[in-house]
Amino acid sequence: LTSARDLVGTLVADRADAWDAAGRLPEDLLRDLGGRGLLCAEVPGSYGGLGAGSRDSGEFTAYVGSLCGSLRSIMTSQGMAAWTVRRLGDQDQRAAYLPRLTSGELAAVGFSEPDAGSDLSAMTTSVRVEDDVVVLDGEKMWVTGACYADLLVVFARSEDDVVVVVVPTATPGVTVERIPDPLGCRAAGHANVRFSSVRLPASAVLGGTGLSLLATTALAYGRISVAWGCVGILRACLNAAVTHARTREQFGKPLARHQLVARHLAELLVSEQVATRACEHASDLWDARSPDLVTAVVLAKHVAAGHAARGAATATQVLASAGAAHGHVVARAYRDAKLMEIIEGSTEICQLILAEHAVATVA
Ligand code: FAD
Repeated sequence: LTSARDLVGTLVADRADAWDAAGRLPEDLLRDLGGRGLLCAEVPGSYGGLGAGSRDSGEFTAYVGSLCGSLRSIMTSQGMAAWTVRRLGDQDQRAAYLPRLTSGELAAVGFSEPDAGSDLSAMTTSVRVEDDVVVLDGEKMWVTGACYADLLVVFARSEDDVVVVVVPTATPGVTVERIPDPLGCRAAGHANVRFSSVRLPASAVLGGTGLSLLATTALAYGRISVAWGCVGILRACLNAAVTHARTREQFGKPLARHQLVARHLAELLVSEQVATRACEHASDLWDARSPDLVTAVVLAKHVAAGHAARGAATATQVLASAGAAHGHVVARAYRDAKLMEIIEGSTEICQLILAEHAVATVA
């Protein structure tokens, strides 16, 4: 993915701030990157993907995250959609959907609802069989990338259990309503999506059932991707803070020579390193298909998001008025990083999962 890094670096350059201010990413850029398989790099070559391992894909995600949190968010959604299809789709469904996700079509994933945020068991979006079609009704909230998406991967309740349905956004009865001016990742195309008697072929329902599907498929992928994105935020913040502290002088010497500022730099370095190690560990377990990966992924997401939120605040402190200017990389990181503590399992939900694991496993 080295050449991909160079390509994305050139395409994004210094445009992320303008995209953030406009609240939109250029759609041709998304489709170009999607068509090169770069929005879901782990999809195997047989489906037009790059077949990247979790570590390489993670480092690439971190790089994109260091440039533009909104673009990284789109990658996370596309990767979640592709992983869900890979894990739950049968051979025909994988052959039908995955090549679309590596050839320029865009996808988003919906599980949250107005009354089902942290508690996804309260989900009410329903899918029912009617003759030879299925009918979808309900509402999904805050779906990242939905404004750009051609396909929505939707978790819904069937008569017996939770299932996953792939819904083309152009299907009659689908309404996508943009969320204006979110706090961060402002160009990531977040939307609330309503499904009103949406009729789909039975083949749109992926195999596999159960709410635990969420933890092992979409959420697990989303968590590791967000965690690597947080590593990128930390790298951007460390870079900006060190560069500034080396050159800006107050009281006759560079900021970096004032011990209290130096402590901020040390904390940022520690944050970046700790988050990186947690992500590398989770990715290694992911690539090894270890049963421990689910907990490792929650831990990586929790550690990386917490460090990113604190690290972005620290970097903003080091730059002070220079970082407070509209569109500065640390100002954007400050807003984007806070959201990382909310999505894909909030800080509190991650803590509950980790505490449960500790209680069950510590001798
Ligand atoms: P609530 O569940 O109402 O929680 C409010 C607060 O209470 C939180 O701090 C939470 O941690 C805490 N809390 C809740 N229950 C407990 C508990 N049992 N113990 C302790 N604390 C608790 N959803 C999608 O489906 N697809 C997406 O692509 C997507 N992208 C998103 C992008 C952004 C930028 C944001 C902000 C949200 C996105 N979401 C998406 C929704 C996201 O998954 C939810 O916001 C998240 O699950 C939290 O739900 P909630 O906002 O309803 O908060």
